Amino acid sequence: MALIVQKFGGTSVADPDKIKAVALRVMELSKQGNQMVVVLSAMAGETNRLVDLAHKMQAIPDQREMDVLLSIGEQATVALFAMAVKEAGLDAVSLLGDQVKISTDSMHTKARIKSINADLIKRHLNDGKIVVVAGFQGVSESGDITTLGRGGSDTTAVALAAALAADQCEIFTDVEGVYTTDPNICPSARKIDRITYDEMLELASLGAKVLDIRSVGLAKRYKVPIHVRSTFTNTQGTWVVEEDKIMESMLVSGVTYNKNEARITFSRVPDTPGIASRIFNPISDAGIVVDMIIQNTRAGDMTDMTFTVPKSDYERAMKIMQKIAEDIGAESVTGDTKIAKVSIVGVGMRNHSGIATTMFHILSRENINIMMISTSEIKISCVIEEKYTELAVRALHDAFELDKANLPLEES
Ligand code: ADP
Ligand code: ASP
Ligand code: MG
Repeated sequence: MALIVQKFGGTSVADPDKIKAVALRVMELSKQGNQMVVVLSAMAGETNRLVDLAHKMQAIPDQREMDVLLSIGEQATVALFAMAVKEAGLDAVSLLGDQVKISTDSMHTKARIKSINADLIKRHLNDGKIVVVAGFQGVSESGDITTLGRGGSDTTAVALAAALAADQCEIFTDVEGVYTTDPNICPSARKIDRITYDEMLELASLGAKVLDIRSVGLAKRYKVPIHVRSTFTNTQGTWVVEEDKIMESMLVSGVTYNKNEARITFSRVPDTPGIASRIFNPISDAGIVVDMIIQNTRAGDMTDMTFTVPKSDYERAMKIMQKIAEDIGAESVTGDTKIAKVSIVGVGMRNHSGIATTMFHILSRENINIMMISTSEIKISCVIEEKYTELAVRALHDAFELDKANLPLEES
């Protein structure tokens, strides 16, 4: 008998028939004697619908109330799923984040899990029930409902797998695993059989939303192997695991894109000590995570500063920045939400030169202008106009021949 955690994403539970089909799939394993913990997302599109509703009430929605609202998507699916199981003849119980006690900090809309109490789940499992936990939500110390950030149900699943010392953690989604790039925009994308936590962390941080980055971080820390696979087939998916000797070692392992960032530019800021901290302190105090930052070379006593923030925090960031611009005497502050960040990722880049040049060449060949560049040892990112995202991803995937499998490196 194994304890298995399975998470099903929004497209997997998008309507009543799909919920019933997933329930039957889970029940099969339960009938074979396994203890089943199921984590569910809201139905596809539901969280977006709730976000839109909130914006109809308040230009910048109150973060606490936003979490009360967003948590209802998952509340609906877990209840429906438990009903489907009962109707089909087994017992199930749905649990919300505060019932389980998934304790988080109080950073609304992007809370971090601090601890999980596994007792209630274990009691229900020992009573023979399938336990259905609402993904993406928790409860803060003050008793307020919190959510874990978009895509956060993956994190709920991995955290539960760690807390319960589960034998298996499976993330079911609408594609067959982790690919060299998004298979929905690049037909030649290739499924990766095994990938290390570190490479997956890098892909996820740069936009491969097939796994939420925080779920990968937790999996690495608690050594939880993750199996990412399709809800709609029975084929093996991708294993996200620790590095071992026979893994693929690729120059470039994937191409990612992220359309969820916006760019903010300060023009003509006085170039004096302390300016960067006066700009970025209030942003971090507001819990907004800045990604790329570029400061231009000095022109007279002035300089320009450009950075990116999550699109969901853009309005709040702009409001803060307009005030700062006045305080520090910047000429103007402008924003652009129609951008995308396209990245190539691969540990093999460490020892190779020329990868960045190839990337720039491919983008210029497609007539795509690069607005910002950032590099690290194992990735190169370029910010471009959003409308060229798909073109850029396909061109880069082709140029680095990611459709062709690498030979495994046999190490003795
Ligand atoms: P779920 O609702 O199941 O959590 P998501 O939409 O969050 O599913 O994630 C699955 C989607 O991730 C896929 O449909 C695919 O479009 C996208 N995706 C982006 N990059 C990748 C990648 N490298 N490999 C697989 N899927 C990817
Ligand atoms: N429903 C949430 C979202 O759409 C969480 C999740 O699906 O993982 O972001
Ligand atoms: Mg997801």
